[in-house]
Amino acid sequence: MSEQTEWYRNLEIGIDKFKAQLGADARDFFLERFAKIARRVDQFSVDCPQCREYQARMSSILQELSIDVSQITKEKKRNYLGNMNTMLSHLKKAHGLISDGQNTGIWLVLGIGIGAALGATFSNPAIGISAGLGLGLALGVCLDAQARKAGKVI
Ligand SMILES: [Zn+2]
Repeated sequence: MSEQTEWYRNLEIGIDKFKAQLGADARDFFLERFAKIARRVDQFSVDCPQCREYQARMSSILQELSIDVSQITKEKKRNYLGNMNTMLSHLKKAHGLISDGQNTGIWLVLGIGIGAALGATFSNPAIGISAGLGLGLALGVCLDAQARKAGKVI
């Protein structure tokens, strides 16, 4: 992966500070995910104006929240998490990235569905479901491993 910019390094320092300020509440903010998104946004910002806008947004959100953590309202927290979702879906749609385990989840459900349907056709739903689950899981894990190898996992 390419080298991180000064923007990212500064943001990372900000994240660490914010985390220390929050203490036990830090887990509500999924800061690890925030940092992962920032790393990708940083990487794509060279060519993508939307990602450049996100860089500015991430800096200002973080700054605003960490001014006084005792003043973080539910509304502000919701806004923070909402922004994170928006950025995640941009990374997926515009840049073809996926969440870790995304394929496994999708194919597990599909496999069980297909297996149940086939099982019912042959009057043996239990075998159908377990075969479908096994195949779906295997395929999903394989696709996720491939995505990870290709650097496509956020
Ligand atoms: Zn982008």
